[in-house]
Amino acid sequence: MKILVVNCGSSSLKYQLIDMEGERVLAKGLCERIGIDGRLKHSGKAEYTADVGMKNHTDAIRLVLNALLNKEYGVLNSISEVNAVGHRVVHGGEYFSQSVIVTDEVEKAIEACYDLAPLHNPPNLIGVRACEELMPGVPQAAVFDTAFHQTMPPKAYLYAIPYELYEKHKIRKYGFHGTSHKYVAQRAAVMLRRPLESLKIITCHLGNGASVCAVEYGKSVDTSMGLTPLEGLAMGTRSGSLDPAIIAFLVEKERITVKDAENILNKKSGVLGLSGVSSDFRDIEDAKRQGNTRAAIALDLFHYRVAKTAGEYAAAMNGADAVVFTAGLGENSMSSRAAVCAYLGYLGLQVDERKNNTRGKEADFATDDSKTRALVIPTNEELMIARDTAALLA
Ligand code: AMP
Repeated sequence: MKILVVNCGSSSLKYQLIDMEGERVLAKGLCERIGIDGRLKHSGKAEYTADVGMKNHTDAIRLVLNALLNKEYGVLNSISEVNAVGHRVVHGGEYFSQSVIVTDEVEKAIEACYDLAPLHNPPNLIGVRACEELMPGVPQAAVFDTAFHQTMPPKAYLYAIPYELYEKHKIRKYGFHGTSHKYVAQRAAVMLRRPLESLKIITCHLGNGASVCAVEYGKSVDTSMGLTPLEGLAMGTRSGSLDPAIIAFLVEKERITVKDAENILNKKSGVLGLSGVSSDFRDIEDAKRQGNTRAAIALDLFHYRVAKTAGEYAAAMNGADAVVFTAGLGENSMSSRAAVCAYLGYLGLQVDERKNNTRGKEADFATDDSKTRALVIPTNEELMIARDTAALLA
């Protein structure tokens, strides 16, 4: 069975074609600058890069399908070899607690969540519709970033604001990165050789966007992102949680609009805003090594917040069997993993420095006698989307 995984952004489209027998990636690539000019980077039987005009996402999908069929660098003889398409959809609101095959009702529900994810859901749905147009009859599945967190109890997902506002506007915590948290929790159970249903796991997805999740007995019971991906940890450019009164304060003192203030918190804050150097953690680590004090403070604050949130979730679950690190920083930065784990000694977690000297592959880097395990697990959201899509077909 072959599944095409599609992840549509506002001007980009990432794809992977996965053969579910052996879960092999047959081809993958990226369309960039859709609606501007257009560039395709494809890797199949061979590599292929081209600047080609893409007016919209339908054009981009058409080029992807042509690349997959190309004699030289493609991997398919006919599009009919694709059994289904799995789409990443960011927001499923309260409508979806699992992945679904797309129907008219599903499309309406994705549209109903536009207000909750105005930058993400519209291009996600455009991608679904483009595939429906170009691959008629091929089932399309939607896999939601929020779905895994729909198991949170009300005490975790409600904000302490008038309940009527939750009922009227669905203002609540949804959480994101669900596909990633679910994938690494499942892999952690395999690595620990224990059933997922017996484990308390704290998963830390630390990339440009960052969130922590409490996975108790296989279910998300709390997570750090909220109504939007702005809540929680400090991130590349996002402030994470702060005193809500700061927004009104900023509007008054800086004489700006609420939208401007929101823009500052989403795009100019986080480790970028604190360090003044970059939103990229590698640049900030370099700046710290060169003696930049603000870069050092930004990193300290970032690690402290991750550790504090992990502590909250250890309390929420009354313990933790493992802390998992994933995504760009979590998979690659041994210094960040060590800095976070240094706060977690009270959980009985001790880092083995030699084992922590690893990057981009699965590893348990806790000492042999450490009570709580510390794991690095590269995330694989595309594989998770393909698995969910294949399971829906079955
Ligand atoms: P992601 O959003 O998962 O792609 O993660 C991107 C972030 O991971 C960027 O801030 C990168 O600087 C960071 N990152 C990637 N590789 C490394 C590395 N070797 N050391 C430190 N940070 C890294």
